[in-house]
Amino acid sequence: MTIIRCVSCDGFGWTEDDDDGSAQDCAWCGGVGYVYHENGIDRRIPPTDYAAVSDQLEALELERMREMGYSGSAKKPWDQPVRQERGNLLRGKSGT
Ligand SMILES: [Zn+2]
Repeated sequence: MTIIRCVSCDGFGWTEDDDDGSAQDCAWCGGVGYVYHENGIDRRIPPTDYAAVSDQLEALELERMREMGYSGSAKKPWDQPVRQERGNLLRGKSGT
């Protein structure tokens, strides 16, 4: 499965409200910043897949940050649930 940057939020995972400038989860990718791309169709990455694709997302996010000129780590909107899930897996917990 190919994963591409969300065309709606450009990988940010959120969009700014035009009226008050508040940040809202991107409706296109659900806040992940990336989507599955298959046969020309974009599809949300379901939360249940986060752990499985976290390495791929991290690589894509790093690439995006470098494009923007960041060299260190940056805030990753999709990262919270991903890392938590990953951390749970690494610690051998079920996530409950
Ligand atoms: Zn998006």
